[in-house]
Amino acid sequence: QGSSGNVSCRWKEGLLITPSGIPYDALSVSDIVYITIENDPNPGPVKPSSEWRFHRDIMSKRKDTNAIVHTHSHFATAMAIHSKEIPAHHYMVAAAGGKNIKCAKYATFGSQALSDNALEALKNRNACLLAHHGVIALGQTLSEALWLANEVETLAKLYSIARQYGKPPTLSNQEMAKVLKAFKNYGPLKGRTKPNDQ
Ligand code: 13P
Ligand code: ZN
Repeated sequence: QGSSGNVSCRWKEGLLITPSGIPYDALSVSDIVYITIENDPNPGPVKPSSEWRFHRDIMSKRKDTNAIVHTHSHFATAMAIHSKEIPAHHYMVAAAGGKNIKCAKYATFGSQALSDNALEALKNRNACLLAHHGVIALGQTLSEALWLANEVETLAKLYSIARQYGKPPTLSNQEMAKVLKAFKNYGPLKGRTKPNDQ
């Protein structure tokens, strides 16, 4: 909502990224900013998202990623406020590549520390939470990254509802390994999960 969150997509030697502080319903094509992986953004008429550091660092380190969606979606962010990971309460947690969806340590928005913490939480994963902040989801395409961001929000919402019946039980590591293996050939997850890297 508003101008919360941001989106990027790999392009030429760098990436195209949403601008900083412009509400989505006011965005136009000319507001999208091109930045390179090698250099910090040049001052231009439109400022790139304040989170250009983590978008650039993820694109640089994760060659399997062509698109990044960052949100402040409510249920996932509510868990991130408590620095809680999303555990294996539902098999779809494996959609993010492992047995849980980790929560990156808190750092100020837009900082290099936030980018470093996010990369750490994204090791062997395609999504993570950001403490006191939100969600990052990666994809090979923009639609895949958006799909995963929605899945993360749904999983956090289910977790919150399930908590009304007590502490949600979780699937075993063994079962999650089976799911990850099955996901290797499943729809949008084809080739995106590495079952041995939980
Ligand atoms: P930007 O408008 O600069 O992208 O900031 C939104 C945001 O979510 C910062 O974390
Ligand atoms: Zn944010």
